[in-house]
Amino acid sequence: MKPNFDFEEVKQVVIDCLRKKGLRRTPERFQILRHIYERGGHFDADTLYVELRNKGINVSRATVYNTLDLFTKCGILTSHFFTPHHIVYDFSYKAKQHEHLYCEVCGKIEEFCDPRLSIIEEDVQKLTGFKVTKRSVVFRGICPECQRKIKD
Ligand SMILES: [Zn+2]
Ligand SMILES: [Zn+2]
Repeated sequence: MKPNFDFEEVKQVVIDCLRKKGLRRTPERFQILRHIYERGGHFDADTLYVELRNKGINVSRATVYNTLDLFTKCGILTSHFFTPHHIVYDFSYKAKQHEHLYCEVCGKIEEFCDPRLSIIEEDVQKLTGFKVTKRSVVFRGICPECQRKIKD
C-alpha cells in the first residue's frame, strides 16, 4: 500500500530526530528510509539488507540493524516480536491502528482492524486506571494456505 504522505515529510521527521540525538545525517540512512517508504509493509533486518543489496545500495548489515533501531526510536517504525529474538518491523508513521495475524507455520503476517478493540481498550483503562500508550494484539495460528497444505 502506498503511503498517503510525501517522502519529504517522513524524511523531515528523521532529520529532526537525528538532530535531537546529535547523530549525523548519513546518506545511507536516507537510502534505507526511501526503500522502506517505497516498500511499506512488514519486514525484518535481513530481508531489508538483501533487498537493499539487490537494488545496488551498498550498506553493511550493521548499518541496517542500527538504522532500523534508530527509526524505531524516532517513532516511524514499530517493532514486533512474533517469535522470540526475531524483530519484525512495521512502517508505522501515520499508520492506522491495526492488529496482526501471525501464521506459526510459514511466518506470514496479515493485518486486521476492528473498532471493537478500541472500545475494550477504553473500558480497560477506566477499570484499571492504566493509561494505554500502545496496543498490540496478535492472533496466532495457521493461515489458509498452510491449512490446505496440511490437509493434502
Ligand atoms: Zn502491521
Ligand atoms: Zn502459513
